[in-house]
Amino acid sequence: MSLLAKGILKGMAVTAKNFFQSYYRKERLPTVQYPEEKSTITPFTRNFPFLLYDGDDAVDGMRCTACTLCERACPPQCIYIIKDKDEKGKPILRPRIFDIDTSVCMSCQLCVEVCPYEAIRMDSAFELSNENRFEGLLINRGDLLKSNDYYHALNPVEARETDDRIAAKNALAEAKKKARQKKTRLAAAKAKRPPSRLKKSPPAREKPPQPEKSE
Ligand code: SF4
Ligand code: SF4
Repeated sequence: MSLLAKGILKGMAVTAKNFFQSYYRKERLPTVQYPEEKSTITPFTRNFPFLLYDGDDAVDGMRCTACTLCERACPPQCIYIIKDKDEKGKPILRPRIFDIDTSVCMSCQLCVEVCPYEAIRMDSAFELSNENRFEGLLINRGDLLKSNDYYHALNPVEARETDDRIAAKNALAEAKKKARQKKTRLAAAKAKRPPSRLKKSPPAREKPPQPEKSE
C-alpha cells in the first residue's frame, strides 16, 4: 500500500472515530446548539477591543491618553480618535471621541500590542449582532470603556500581570520625581548660601632684583 493511501485511511479512521463517539462522548462534539447552548469562553478567547479605566469614574479613570498609536497601527484603519480639550482649549490627555468600527475590525490585537499605557485589551463578548449594519457596529467611547474589575473577571492572570507592571512603572516614576525634587532643593539651598566674607588675599608678588648701586 502506498504512503498516500495509508495517510488517507488513517485520516478517515480518525474522522469515523470522532463521528461515532460524538453520540456518547461530549468532548468529541465540537459544535453547540446555539443559542440554547453557548461555547465556553476561555481567557484566550478574543473578539473586539475595549478601553480600560481605573476607579469608579470611567472618564476620570480612563487609562487612554489619546496618543493615537493604536489608531496609526490598526491595519484596516477602523479606530477613530479625537483628543479632548478643556474650556480654555488646552488639550487634555484623554480622547473626547474614541470609536471602533467592529464591522471592519479583524481582531488582530495590534492595537493592544502597541499601547504604551495598558489602556486597551481584547474582549470576548460575541453577541454583538445588530439590525443597523453601520451605526450599530460602530462602538463609541462610552460603550468601549470597561472597568479593571471587568478585565480581572475576563482574564485574571493577565490582568494581575498588567497591574504589577503599572505599579512598578508608577514606583519608578515616583522615585525619579523624588530624586529630581531633591536635586532642585539642593541647588536652591546652595544658591541661597551667603558668600564667604574672608576674601583670600592674592599671593605676594616677588620683588624684582634691584640693580647694585655703583659708588
Ligand atoms: S484588533 Fe486589529 S483591526 Fe481591530 S481595532 Fe485593533 S488593530 Fe484594528
Ligand atoms: S488606547 Fe493606548 S495606544 Fe490607543 S490612543 Fe489610547 S493610550 Fe494610545
